[in-house]
Amino acid sequence: MPAVVRVALPVPLARLFDYLPPAGGVAVGSRVLVPFGRKKLVGVVVASGVEAAVAGGRLKAVLSVLDDGPLLDAELMQTLAWAADYWLAAPGEAYANALPLALREPRPLPETTEPCYALTVAGQSARDAGSRRGSSRRLLDLLLAAPLGAAELDLALPGWRPAAKRLRDAGLIEQRVPDPLPPTPSAAPPLNAEQDAAVAAVAGAFDRFQPFLLDGVTGSGKTEVYLALIAQALAAGKQALMLVPEIGLAPQTVRRLRERLGVPVEVIHSNLAEGERARAWLRARNGEARVVLGTRSAVFTPLPQAGLIVVDEEHDGAYKQQEGFRYHARDLALVRARALGVPVLLGSATPSLETLANVEAGRYRALHLRARPGAARPPQVQIVDMRAQRLDHGLSPALLAAVAEAAGRGEQALVFRNRRGYAPVLLCHACGWHAECPRCEHPMTLHAQRRTLACHHCDRHAAVPSACPACGSVELKPQGQGTERLEEALTARFDDVPVLRIDRETTRRRDAFEQLLDGLRDDAPAILVGTQMLAKGHDLPNLTLVAIVGVDEGLHSVDFRAGERLAQLVVQVAGRAGRARKPGRVLLQTHHPDHPLLRGLLAQGYAAAARELLAERREALLPPFSHQALLRVEAHQRADVDAFLGEAHAALPDDPALRIAGPMPAPMPLRAGRHRGQLLVEADTRGPLHAALRPWQHALAALPSVRKVRWSLDVDPIDL
Ligand code: ADP
Ligand code: ZN
Ligand code: ZN
Repeated sequence: MPAVVRVALPVPLARLFDYLPPAGGVAVGSRVLVPFGRKKLVGVVVASGVEAAVAGGRLKAVLSVLDDGPLLDAELMQTLAWAADYWLAAPGEAYANALPLALREPRPLPETTEPCYALTVAGQSARDAGSRRGSSRRLLDLLLAAPLGAAELDLALPGWRPAAKRLRDAGLIEQRVPDPLPPTPSAAPPLNAEQDAAVAAVAGAFDRFQPFLLDGVTGSGKTEVYLALIAQALAAGKQALMLVPEIGLAPQTVRRLRERLGVPVEVIHSNLAEGERARAWLRARNGEARVVLGTRSAVFTPLPQAGLIVVDEEHDGAYKQQEGFRYHARDLALVRARALGVPVLLGSATPSLETLANVEAGRYRALHLRARPGAARPPQVQIVDMRAQRLDHGLSPALLAAVAEAAGRGEQALVFRNRRGYAPVLLCHACGWHAECPRCEHPMTLHAQRRTLACHHCDRHAAVPSACPACGSVELKPQGQGTERLEEALTARFDDVPVLRIDRETTRRRDAFEQLLDGLRDDAPAILVGTQMLAKGHDLPNLTLVAIVGVDEGLHSVDFRAGERLAQLVVQVAGRAGRARKPGRVLLQTHHPDHPLLRGLLAQGYAAAARELLAERREALLPPFSHQALLRVEAHQRADVDAFLGEAHAALPDDPALRIAGPMPAPMPLRAGRHRGQLLVEADTRGPLHAALRPWQHALAALPSVRKVRWSLDVDPIDL
């Protein structure tokens, strides 16, 4: 057999491809252009000088080598191979996730230096004179604070380029090469004893792999601990990587990192223009970038001089990719930290049960921040029993009174409801008909302002009927409350306080959210109605009341993770209250005031509730005390789903270590017109599960019924 190079190609096949080597050879980790069918593809060399798996006559040759040396270093190559294997990805898909799109094309690498934009003297006067409007005005405001590069502008002001061109043509802004001198860093506050201890513990583990959990309520000063440690890593000549769950959290964190550390901060997330993303990735690779902040995909950033990895809000489900290469960025961060020999710090006010189990088992070290610097005291949490109460659009008298009090003191109140739209159901009072999506067999949400019914599962829209299609009655009544309805009810009741709704609809424009938040930073009273979007990170110093409504659904879910998620959500939302010097209050309105989860959570806090939930998981042998893989299948015909699942079940090895649940319908058996089913495979230890999965995956791809279905295998699924 001839010696070949083995290449990972961006095709959805769980295998590698052999090619005859180019003259002069090629290093592992380099990109090559190869023929594939009638196309030419860019692939990554995974092995070189290995023996071909097939006879030489059918082998094609590498067309060209795109890199002088490896683009991906040995550590990333090893981590990616591990990750592709663990999450059952096609190897090429794993590499495609790791490499920015611009680097997956047969072109030379882009330049890594890029000019930034700054105000000219004329620009400063124009800004002071207020002579510009709209996005030009916003761009001038942004650049007044600091010169910014394209990547930062993408985040702060999407669609900034036309404004930049206008302002440049008018001589109001100019392009500069990046400022070689870092701005003067701002001083860190003196850390308290707990923060000091946390910093010392992690700093004591620099230069080796050690996972830490930084467990502290919102506002307890976790970010200050990250900053101190990143500063130490930088001082030692090392790079730091920090992951955040969503891009919405990035701008304020970037600002804080940059001001404190006085170094450029590279931002990497999937909404970045492709060229920017490639440049940021390359700057990290050549060591120019010292601090990298990013969302899920930033976990693949090369770190040749790695010193520290931070994963903020480690419990957040956004770290799990839900399609294609279904990796978990937090888990991958741990794998990378091990390979790089550096500490990894997982921070959260509400750690995941997986992480807590690792702490219990002694694999991770827990560091606690119990005090809240700044805040007077932790918010007081109370249950509002809404049974037998006269409700105004779902809001109880006690809740409304508390909102009135907060507004009366000139403070802000947040009414949290994790459901957008006017009402989740439109019901006929005469016959019981309700508006349902035919493609999902699920109630459609009424959106009153947009005068439409919308399916939140498949995005189908329909006109709001004027009479019941089943019986002709005009008694159609919205059931339940979404944020839009709560906004309406609160506006009607409080005519002298501004009511602001913050959800996906009111923040559709990318900078609308930041603008809404900016308006709330001062001391004026306001009532906010918001979804999940407001649960995270954002600092609202004048917010002193948080009223949580409509969490009861989470108490009755079939998903075994629902309790954990509910506890996390309640604690995260509650953490919004009383962030500054004013004390906060939290109300939780429920029909189940005696539910043990709510009781435990409120009486003893998240840690105790999590211990209880963890004990239940251990008892029931559920993750993290067992390991799961989920086969998901969908097709236009239910029979095709059933046939495939039946064959898939039969193709599993007869191993007593494997527990099999199903075949069964998915939690939504129909979605967007497709029938869905699943099969869950579980084992107490990873060994037998993973031993079975790869062969099973190959067998599934070869099943007779495979052509009629879409299927995927999800290792460690986070929703069933
Ligand atoms: P977290 O990340 O846990 O939510 P932060 O680090 O953002 O907490 O801290 C919350 C607030 O308290 C911030 O405004 C921060 O500047 C301030 N803060 C944190 N640590 C200290 C400290 N040791 N002394 C004074 N202020 C602090
Ligand atoms: Zn009817
Ligand atoms: Zn639908």
